[in-house]
Amino acid sequence: MNYTSTRNNTLSVSSSFAIANGISTEGGLFVPTDIPKVSGDFIASLVPMTYIERARKVLSLYLTDFSAEEIDADTFGAYSTGFTHEKVAPLTNLNGNVNVLELWHGPTCAFKDMALQLLPYLLTGSAKRVSDGKEIVILVATSGDTGKAALEGFKDVPGTKILVFYPSEGVSAMQKLQMTTQKGENVGVAAIRGNFDDAQTGVKTIFTDKSVRELLEKNGKAFSSANSINWGRLVPQIVYYFSAYADMIASGQIANGDKVNFCVPTGNFGNILAAYYAMEMGLPVNKLICASNANNVLTEFIETGRYNRVRKFHTTVSPSMDILVSSNLERLLFHLSGDNSEEITALFTALSKDGEYTVSPAMLEKIQSVFAAGCCDDKETKKTVGETFRDFNYLLDPHTGVAVNVYNTYRKNTGDETPTVIVSTASPYKFSPAVLEGLGEEFSSEDEFEMMSALNKASGVPAPAKLTELKGAEPRFTNICDKEEMEGVVLSMLGL
Ligand SMILES: *Cc1c(COP(=O)(O)O)cnc(C)c1O
Repeated sequence: MNYTSTRNNTLSVSSSFAIANGISTEGGLFVPTDIPKVSGDFIASLVPMTYIERARKVLSLYLTDFSAEEIDADTFGAYSTGFTHEKVAPLTNLNGNVNVLELWHGPTCAFKDMALQLLPYLLTGSAKRVSDGKEIVILVATSGDTGKAALEGFKDVPGTKILVFYPSEGVSAMQKLQMTTQKGENVGVAAIRGNFDDAQTGVKTIFTDKSVRELLEKNGKAFSSANSINWGRLVPQIVYYFSAYADMIASGQIANGDKVNFCVPTGNFGNILAAYYAMEMGLPVNKLICASNANNVLTEFIETGRYNRVRKFHTTVSPSMDILVSSNLERLLFHLSGDNSEEITALFTALSKDGEYTVSPAMLEKIQSVFAAGCCDDKETKKTVGETFRDFNYLLDPHTGVAVNVYNTYRKNTGDETPTVIVSTASPYKFSPAVLEGLGEEFSSEDEFEMMSALNKASGVPAPAKLTELKGAEPRFTNICDKEEMEGVVLSMLGL
């Protein structure tokens, strides 16, 4: 299995090369040249398996230059101890044929752990094969959850350094505390004055800057990325779509071969893109429903074919979805274009130059045959959190609240009664203030930990120990920089 670039389809590299490098030198993203196909028997074989066994089966189709023993060791390291639920990614029935796939039982209580607990293993193995012993420098731009999950995954991993940039006003108090108190000798965290897109653009610029690259190379270092532009972030996420489907077969909710919907709260388009790969591999999917908050650039795109990032940026109660440039969409469009890297280069050059692009009617038709889309604002999100708790005694975080709201509207408007999985991306305790408001609870304190106990009292749902134990922890990282200063921060952390 080889990988090519969305902006240069003549390239052909191994999965190790794609993972170790993160992004292609001309700015494109690595994608598989042929998406592997699986049979109904393959899916049936997953049903009695553990999550780790399912992960081994799916990953081995993509990581063909990894040995079976390596994949066994990597998946065991990632998923055997860090998750507090024995099923790793359990499926909970919400009501009737609507289910919630809980992806937040990892060490940082958000779905990013599903990939970022595994990525350090994939990346260090890849680097051994293709980067001859260079120290890997991970640069991360985060809208809140990636940063902490990446820090936790890479902390004290030999041969790596990690530096995280987050928008100073764009993350929740709990997210900020999680990052600024991070332990580990090889980690750094900096706030930037700007939003997530500024952080992401800054990281991409440093990444593709030739002189910085050469400076690192001279010093025995090489950049890589833990953002969802890295193939090593995406491939672990394909697993849980198969896992959820296998669990629905196991519970008797569907027969093997029946179609299901997945509704995914979306920001950078990584999570829902993994669902698309699962579908292309042969997982029976009816619709992929893309749920957005007030930053509804994807809703408009899927409905009209016009992607326009020039619009007001909203800071919402679902901050991990406050994104106007959804990087992974580039991969979807590449596949739908028939691997046409010239067309993709033209679209994304237009996006950075003019702030927008419009896809062809043929491309739009293909998108709409697979994807549905919807959005809701903070008020509707909180209302859905409250209603879902009252009706089904199930506590949603605001990101999952967006997904449930969008799904409810979709179902009402279309009459589609296909069994559905709502992808739940964070513990409600990462966003206690918004969840409390959704429940209609009065609270006077600004203290994150008092709000957590108020939420615990109101809901009866236990708070994750990983969050309660942060109480009283001293922040280690308090620096804040302008986006123009990001490169300097990186070089000074590396001592260059
Ligand atoms: C990152 C994140 C999302 C968005 O996922 P994408 O892969 O960027 O689309 C949604 N919810 C939470 C809680 C997240 O951390």
